[in-house]
Amino acid sequence: MCLDKLKQEVLHANLELVERNLVISTWGNVSGYDPETKLVAIKASGVHYDELETKHMVIVDLDGNVVEGEYVPSTDTQTHVALYKRFTEYGIHGIVHTHSQYATMWAQLGMDIPCYGTTHSDYFYGDIPCTRLMTADEINGEYEKNTAEVILERFEGDACKKMNAVLVHSHGPFVWGKTPLDAVLHSQVLEYISRMAYCNYTLTGGENQKIQRVLLDRHYNRKFGENAYYGQKKQ
Ligand SMILES: [Zn+2]
Repeated sequence: MCLDKLKQEVLHANLELVERNLVISTWGNVSGYDPETKLVAIKASGVHYDELETKHMVIVDLDGNVVEGEYVPSTDTQTHVALYKRFTEYGIHGIVHTHSQYATMWAQLGMDIPCYGTTHSDYFYGDIPCTRLMTADEINGEYEKNTAEVILERFEGDACKKMNAVLVHSHGPFVWGKTPLDAVLHSQVLEYISRMAYCNYTLTGGENQKIQRVLLDRHYNRKFGENAYYGQKKQ
């Protein structure tokens, strides 16, 4: 893919965060990965969404070094690139970070989001994991890189394929997908199910049952399993 196309895609996905009410002010960022060049486009740091243009999409390599662009990339760049290093082999080419309200509330509590129903199961295979608290050394050291490390502790092997989101303890969600826009959709669904789970949890004092395992499997697999049959037949 040419880098201009990647930057366009990432710009569009960043603007979609605003359209879908997932960010305010300068919060949040989307990045996209190009497998041909092994480069990442990511939003520049601290630029307001209403001023965002293609030139604010900074190209970095997988170590986070700026390859092209005059702006400083997002402060979360080291988290994004460290996740790409592990996840690209599973086809993950888009990552989103927001502080969307309900997902962030669960993150602030340090709680996994329980899977209560099929809306959740249609996109995420089970509870959305929350990372452990970071140590003082991790926070005072390479904080953004260590943020990725605590995320990766929750994702062994190809687990990132069935679980496209994580909550970083006391912070907020990181979400991914096959493309930047796919990751934005997953962020939007995450926020929707976070809100429903919050209501279910508070209405019952946390006593309600999670979805039956067999129903979780059925819903997830009919969309994403080996014999998926949801949607229109591929031409
Ligand atoms: Zn953040």
